Amino acid sequence: MELADVDTITVLGAGTMGHGIAEVAALSGYSVKMRDIKEEFVEDGYEQITWSLDKLAENERITEEEAEAAKENVTPLVDIEEAMEGSDVVIEAAPENMDIKADVYEEVVEYAPEHTVFTSNTSSLSITDLSELTDRPERFCGMHFFNPPVRMDLVEVIRGEHTSDETMDLIEDLAADMGKTPVRVRKDEPGFIVNSILVPLMNEACWIVEEDVATIAEVDSSTKYGMGLPMGAFELGDQVGNDVTYHVLEYMHEVLGAAYEPCPLLAETVENDHLGKKTGKGFYDYEDGEGADVPADQVREDVLDRLYAVLANETGKLIQKDVAPPEDIDEAVTLGAGFPKGPAKLCDEEGLDDAIATLEELQESSDATRYEVSDGLRDAAEEGGFYGADEEDDAVEFETIRVEYPTEMVGQIVLDRPHQLNTVNPEMLDEFGEAVDMLDDDEDVRAILVTGAGDRAFSAGADAMSMAGSANPIDAIELSRKGQETWAKLEDASVPTVAGIDGFALGGGMELAACADLRIATERSELGQPEFNLGLLPGWGGTQRLKNHIGESRAKEVIFTAERYEAETMHEWGFVNRLTDKDSFEEDAVELAADLAAGPPLAMEYTKKAMHAGRDDTEAGLETEAFAFGHLIATDDVMEGVTKIQSDEEPEFEGK
Ligand code: NAD
Repeated sequence: MELADVDTITVLGAGTMGHGIAEVAALSGYSVKMRDIKEEFVEDGYEQITWSLDKLAENERITEEEAEAAKENVTPLVDIEEAMEGSDVVIEAAPENMDIKADVYEEVVEYAPEHTVFTSNTSSLSITDLSELTDRPERFCGMHFFNPPVRMDLVEVIRGEHTSDETMDLIEDLAADMGKTPVRVRKDEPGFIVNSILVPLMNEACWIVEEDVATIAEVDSSTKYGMGLPMGAFELGDQVGNDVTYHVLEYMHEVLGAAYEPCPLLAETVENDHLGKKTGKGFYDYEDGEGADVPADQVREDVLDRLYAVLANETGKLIQKDVAPPEDIDEAVTLGAGFPKGPAKLCDEEGLDDAIATLEELQESSDATRYEVSDGLRDAAEEGGFYGADEEDDAVEFETIRVEYPTEMVGQIVLDRPHQLNTVNPEMLDEFGEAVDMLDDDEDVRAILVTGAGDRAFSAGADAMSMAGSANPIDAIELSRKGQETWAKLEDASVPTVAGIDGFALGGGMELAACADLRIATERSELGQPEFNLGLLPGWGGTQRLKNHIGESRAKEVIFTAERYEAETMHEWGFVNRLTDKDSFEEDAVELAADLAAGPPLAMEYTKKAMHAGRDDTEAGLETEAFAFGHLIATDDVMEGVTKIQSDEEPEFEGK
């Protein structure tokens, strides 16, 4: 069967995951039969779908019509025979219990059409064992969504021992068609990819506290502000549910052995019913206390060493067992757990030799098998990293940018389309992102400078011609997100960054400059956000970041007037840190970057992290910005703006 043949999807279970998966499938146009064992359960699930779809429409993520169509695509059912009739793919989301699942599959097999492919959303049971409960183990695989399915992008597609290639391909295509990112899990490993990394990390966090090495606050401060994860380890545990972590760990313990013995601290929280947010109490108290209030200033190097060492070891094991290559592990963990970088990349940066040394020391002092260095980690260390040593030494050829090293410890990215005023096309976005990653990973680079080639512009913004293909809302949202994410790489770089502006810094160009830590500009430069002239809004972070530098009132002025501002005004307003003149510009820009490069790298990195973490909810703002950009793109006003700008006339906007 191919994706084009899939029309009807049966979701078994209308609980937390089942109703969410049904909603996602219905939004993608599939006809969904959502089955649970009692009328009230399916009704509850359907109500939650309706609520969520209305919310999406209210927030303009989808149109009212799309919400209504998705509601109509879902048929809530109790009768199993009806639920299986005409079903092309089954996604089972019944309770996580082998006996219950066995009952479920017994019924399913009885009524399933010959061609139906079966998948399970299980988090911890063996896909092979489940497949053997059915009459078609080769047409069975794991399809592991994350909670909540509507928001989480990742789907792990897990191969059981009997799963055919065709089944894997089909289910990956299906996940992609539902707007998700499938990551292939090549072996039926307990915990699959994301939990194989997260759960041992959580367990180690517990051991550190159990052994009185550090407090919960120190461990969480280290994970959140030292490693840059979205939450502290304990904070995350409480969010996920400590029982969920514990059960996956118990299963890993049972199958993989003593290295995964659950720490008593974790076991106790489960015994005491301190399951986390859902019970009001976990490692933190959400009812009577303040919840998780993670301090930014209690990062401990020894805690970081231990956590990185465990991450590196578990990553090594997954690669060694051929569960997934480093790129896939990184993709899964960034999407599924919100890591800023995947564990393979993070650990490469920290140094695998250091991770091995930490593990050996821990094993010597504690004799615990969990610190045994995996062969996968040792092999990777010998090769110079999970991604190998030579990656960054390979000369990378770029078309739209140049990467230079003007002085010691400074990497410079030159936007290199001088005849087009260094306007940004999709290729430049890709290459810029790649170059920032490359320089940020390079140990010899301690500051990044961004400038524009030629003598007219830093960058005059997005290249309207090459972006013209994005004139429908979905593509426009994607384009906005892509620009936001690419520019954010500069903001998130662990080293200090400088934008060197000579000439125009307009639209996307000004938004890029806003992502640098500091800005130096020649007096003749002109800066501005001209998007309103086109009936659009700044869609690459401008609605969020400009105000961080010049305050909301001035940011509104710049965006609302769509005028060009002189560098001197921008200097007065604090956007430009230093003014310089044309003749000494190159020299002054490099000198500023070199000064920053000579600063203390760790203090620099942590200061950036702390300052960025302390801002308001920029992420939420960026999300709204991308959707607003998508909303605007198909309006009459944008048509008017684009037409008039070409004939150099004043546009007349009507708000349509
Ligand atoms: P849940 O308890 O919220 O929902 C399970 C539903 O299945 C219940 O409504 C139950 O009545 C129903 N059910 C029981 N027997 C059934 C049958 N024979 N046919 C149809 N439905 C039946 O559980 P959940 O959290 O949605 O988890 C479901 C699956 O998804 C589990 O395998 C779990 O491991 C996995 N999972 C859960 C999460 C999560 O965060 N909750 C994340 C990823 C995967």
